[in-house]
Amino acid sequence: MDQIPIWLTVNDRGVLVAGGGGVAAAKARIATNAGAMVTVVAPSLGPEIQALVNAGVARHVARKFEAGDVDGQALVFGATGIEQVDAAVAAAAHTVNVPVNIPDHPDLSDFIMPAIVDRGPVVVGISTGGAAPALARQIRGKIESILPARLGDLALLAKDFRQTVKAKIPRGLARLRFWDGLFDGPVADAVLAGDERSAQRHFLRSLNAGDAQSDPAGSVHVVGAGPGDPELLTLRALRLIQTADVVVYDRLVSPEILDFARRDAERINVGKAPGNHAMAQDQINQVLVSQAKLGMRVVRLKGGDPFVFGRGGEEVDFIQSHGIDTSVVPGITAALACAAAAGIPLTHRQSSSAVTFLTGHGADGGDTDHDWAALAKFGHTVAVYMGVASAGQIAANLIGHGMRPELPVAIIENGTRDRQRVFAGRLDALADLILSHQIESPALIIIGEVARSALATHAEPDVIRAVVAG
Ligand code: SAH
Repeated sequence: MDQIPIWLTVNDRGVLVAGGGGVAAAKARIATNAGAMVTVVAPSLGPEIQALVNAGVARHVARKFEAGDVDGQALVFGATGIEQVDAAVAAAAHTVNVPVNIPDHPDLSDFIMPAIVDRGPVVVGISTGGAAPALARQIRGKIESILPARLGDLALLAKDFRQTVKAKIPRGLARLRFWDGLFDGPVADAVLAGDERSAQRHFLRSLNAGDAQSDPAGSVHVVGAGPGDPELLTLRALRLIQTADVVVYDRLVSPEILDFARRDAERINVGKAPGNHAMAQDQINQVLVSQAKLGMRVVRLKGGDPFVFGRGGEEVDFIQSHGIDTSVVPGITAALACAAAAGIPLTHRQSSSAVTFLTGHGADGGDTDHDWAALAKFGHTVAVYMGVASAGQIAANLIGHGMRPELPVAIIENGTRDRQRVFAGRLDALADLILSHQIESPALIIIGEVARSALATHAEPDVIRAVVAG
């Protein structure tokens, strides 16, 4: 983020617009809508600005821009479209430290204007930091389509009753709950449908009936955050993250996903980097329960799916044993996400009729030794989690129990994340593949005939020849 998003109050303050054309008109209109005293400096005016002047909301100074015009202004726009003039506007504003915007010239501007979705008093501003205004406009289109037209009315209703609600429900957390329920229930439905009377009726009923004085009940939702790409969240996961008071998250949860949490939500990192146990499972359980007992809406956010190598089962048992409400929201597990990212079908009518999710942890004699003979059987796919360190041993065990050494394998590191890498090769060279590319956790290994499809794009040519020959 290269700028601070702020909403500036310009009511009854001066805003200077240099220029009389369409771009200048757009800036002048926004400023007049916000109650500014707009001065337009331009030798002549186009029809749009002329209309603002005729309506009495902007003043016209009919001449070329002069440096002194910026004095005493709260904001300045240089929108003449003539490079030298706009540059002079920027220079004059800089001299007296008045923030200036030159449309399409972030280099000359102190601030940029976001694309705006206006549901007054609800306003959404979208910025790409000047990098791609067209993209900002596209995003605006999407947001326009999801925000109900009467959203502003809902905000105004809340404003009207704000003091009443504050008096009736003095406790902050309970009041937050009340508003949350309100914006998501029959009152909102009525307002958005334009039925003001029934909105008021519902409002008063919920205010009177609201169990406002008692402690709100806390809860823990155990939520799968998927492999990293925020677009792979479920809608329910997104909604719960957005409404959580507390988010307790792991190392594998990506920052983009945490950004969906409210600004004031508490974020607790209990992440375990390999070999560095940040917080023991017992402690995590305690954190979840104690936060819920404070009345918090807790989201326990886990990479992938909570019930696939995620210890979600233990946490749910513990939470339930304390009589706390809990639910589990599935997430896209690494095997599914990585397979899709690498274009590998996990099952295939001809070559694979089953998939096994295998942990590589402890495979070299630890406490999760596997039935290697069963795993080495022909015609299925093995997806190995946490297998980077033990990959060589896993390959040796499988080959030792009859799996073909030349069977294709693929490794997906950071699947769906920024630094995703995919490699393919053959089973007996799995460890070499990992070593030579310095693959690190998190990475998922797919073993089976299905990985053949990844060879063409993700293997070295000599490896492809070796697999095909084998
Ligand atoms: N509950 C998670 C798995 C946690 S175990 C899930 O359902 O995906 C951690 C292992 O998952 C990592 O060692 C790695 O093997 C795998 N993993 C998780 N996210 C991954 C990603 N984005 N790319 C590749 N592998 C990933």
